[in-house]
Amino acid sequence: MDMNADRPAMERLTELLAGYSAGTLSPASTMLVASHMAMSNDNLDFVQSMDAFGGTLLEDGEGVALTHRDAILSSILDDKLAVEEPEEATDEIAGGFFPLPLRQFLGKDLDEIEWKSRLPGLKEFEIETSDGAHVSLLWIRAGQAVPTHTHDGTESTLILQGGFTDETGHYERGDIAIADESVDHRPVADPDEDCICLAVLDAPVRLTGPLGRFIQPFLPR
Ligand code: ZN
Repeated sequence: MDMNADRPAMERLTELLAGYSAGTLSPASTMLVASHMAMSNDNLDFVQSMDAFGGTLLEDGEGVALTHRDAILSSILDDKLAVEEPEEATDEIAGGFFPLPLRQFLGKDLDEIEWKSRLPGLKEFEIETSDGAHVSLLWIRAGQAVPTHTHDGTESTLILQGGFTDETGHYERGDIAIADESVDHRPVADPDEDCICLAVLDAPVRLTGPLGRFIQPFLPR
């Protein structure tokens, strides 16, 4: 996220990272942050210091929170693979396009995704997790706008390729954009490259523009 991002956007990101460190996020959101951590070092220091702080608080206890996060991650990742996220982002895409936590979560990589066309220039692949979170991949053609919408919950979006701009800032590969009830947004993909992103939503999207009434029936609910 660049410096043009607004303050509430920074606060939402801080809240998400703190939840990750505390082990309080849903499995899908945990996977999204772990994927971010595998792609970018931007928030490594912050998360490590949160982890250290939590560890201090829990020194005499069982370290419940971190154990919970690790359990979530290990349920996503193969046992034979490292359970904890790497110390440094390796930008590891060995054998694939998706960051490892996402690839393990879906059990497939980009070339196996069964995209559904939503609008010209907008494709989606979506799954619903057993705890009701909606996980979707979006493929937005370069320069294309996603119809204006708001959210009944919190939508975290990790950019996997390209970038987009919305009312809260400009986001590039490895960045997380977070939108909630307070954000009525219309992401527009950067003009030079198709944007592929991972969105995790904990409640239905509510569309607000005229196109919203058209696309609403196709969206996860
Ligand atoms: Zn959104």
